Formats: sequence, C-alpha cells, structure tokens
Amino acid sequence: MNIQNTIGLEVKKELRRCSKCIMPETAKGLRFDGNGLCQLCKDYKEFIPRGEQELRKEIEEYLNGKVAYNCIVPVSGGRDSAYALYYAKEILGLRPLAVHNDNDFETEVANKNLEVMTKSLNVPLIRVSPKKHITKKIVVEKFKMNAHFGAGLVVDQTCEACEYGFHSAAYNIARKEGIKIILWGDSLDESTVPFHKLFSHHVPTKWERLVSPGILSLFKYKNYFNKMQKECGSDSPNGLKAIHLYDYIRWDQRIIVETIQKELGWSVPENSRTWRVDCSLVPLVNHLTEKAYGVSKLEIGFSSMIRSGKMDRDDALRQVENVKNNTDVDKLKTFLKEMNISQSVINRVL
Ligand SMILES: [Zn+2]
Repeated sequence: MNIQNTIGLEVKKELRRCSKCIMPETAKGLRFDGNGLCQLCKDYKEFIPRGEQELRKEIEEYLNGKVAYNCIVPVSGGRDSAYALYYAKEILGLRPLAVHNDNDFETEVANKNLEVMTKSLNVPLIRVSPKKHITKKIVVEKFKMNAHFGAGLVVDQTCEACEYGFHSAAYNIARKEGIKIILWGDSLDESTVPFHKLFSHHVPTKWERLVSPGILSLFKYKNYFNKMQKECGSDSPNGLKAIHLYDYIRWDQRIIVETIQKELGWSVPENSRTWRVDCSLVPLVNHLTEKAYGVSKLEIGFSSMIRSGKMDRDDALRQVENVKNNTDVDKLKTFLKEMNISQSVINRVL
C-alpha cells in the first residue's frame, strides 16, 4: 500500500500481518489486538482428532462379507484424497474403489496422479463424467450471473457444481455397488471457514437477481443445474456412512506428501509442493478471494496451518510471495475469455 511521507514522496508501506499467523491487516472483518495478534489466532482452539481406534470402531461392522469392494474413496488427484486412498487400503485394510468426478477443470498433474496412484495401489478408478460438460456450463453461467454483484459472490459459489458432482458420484456409486462406507479426504487444517464466519458478502434477494443484467444467465444456470441433478442423482449420503478421515487422524502435510510420493508415485512440479494443483480454477479462486476479501485463499489456508503448528511462518510467507509474483492477471482474463465470458463481465470482477 502507498502512503505519503512528510515531504510528499510516495513510499511503499510494508503490509502488516498478524504476529503469529500471516493474516494481513487488509483482510475484511478481521480485528487485531494491541500486540498485533489477529482474532482468528486469539479465538483458536486446537482440534484433537478422535484417533485411529475410533475410526476402526466406525467401520468394523462393514468389514465382514466376501464383497469385492467395501469402501469408496473420492479422489481429486490432490494429496489429501490420495493419502485417504492409501490409508483405506494399506492401513485400514479396506477394499476401496476410487471415484473421481470429471469437472472439466482437472489439471494434467491431477490426471497423471489419478492414474499413477490407483495403479500402484491396484485400486480401480471410476471416473464419472456428467454429459455435455455441464459442470463447466454451470461454472460459466454462475460467474456471469454473480459478476454483477462483485467478486465475493462469484468466488463463494464457483465450486458448487463440482462439489455436487463429487458427492452425487460417490454416494450413487456406493448405492449401486452395495457399499456402505465413503471415506472423504477433506481436511479442516486448510479450512477457510473460520475466516468466512467473520465476514460475508451480501447475498442478492430474488428481486435484485431478477432486475440484474445477469438474469438470462440465472435461467440458464437453473436449467443446467436441474439437468445435472437429474443425471447425477442425489448428493445426500442418506443411509450411507460418510467418514472424514482427518476427523480421526492428524492431518500432517509432511507425512502425507512423503508417504504418497514414496508409496504411490504421486508427484507435483518442484515449485508447487503445497500449492493445490488438482484444479485449474485454483489460481482464479485464489485471486478473486483476495479481491473480494483482502486476503488470498492461500494466505487464509496457510494461516490455519500455522495456527495448528503444521507450517512454518517464514516458509508460508515465502510461498505466498512466490504465488503472488507468479499470478498473471492477464492469463486469468484469457482463461475466462476462452470460456466465452465477455470482456465487460470479466472487467467487473477482475
Ligand atoms: Zn493470526
């Protein structure tokens, strides 16, 4: 940020950050105390996982029987779900099926990892592809209908179709195969939820939607989403056992990455050890979060990890700086243009 000094010259002012995590002073809704400690660090309560024994108790009644598969692990190609697949098979002794929802935004790295890790574990990979690239269509129409209300609404709702696709794919394949357990590899440690509880953007009313220039996209979105629901089925686990692995075992990035590299052949480019590489929307979402909330998604995630003692503050700062220096806004604009989003809509948000 720029400030005027006493002789009128503009000098660059260092961005102030929380003295414990790396949340910047620009983060919307975040308060700091007199010692420069942010509210999230002040309110932080350590999460204690319930333990492997508890997890074994949860699954034991489903282990008997001569079925070929007794567990579904949804996999994105990213590290946390790769480790969940490894853990299901090698530690818990389950017989998993890996399920991936094709969301039209997989990166090459994700596709390669999906192949390599399932092959090395000898686990079948089922890829569910909703017809006619409907996920992408939903993302595009959602972007257009929300753009008029700012970057906050756009970024909050970008992942909706993919999340729906993953849940419906996992639960409906489980039902079809008579499988009861779904082991999710999502983690609280990088969660942005505590921050988003502090500040939220205005959600437009029905009336505001109806008179907005994005009205046509709203109708298209509703039409596509209905089609997706009909094709993919319910996204509810009703009657199934949905387990979140990292509620039970400690999420530890170092152990996770080391294990999946060594045991599964999972890998990412050298400069992106901790940066999510499974979805090509990640750089856009990260940048839009910064526009809308004054802090990038990466900074929020890293701050959570520092708070729980799983990341070094200096390392986080280095990586954030690295990603900032490599964020090419023109490239993001081109990416959106290639999805047939008009320049005026892009300019509203970026
Ligand atoms: Zn903090």
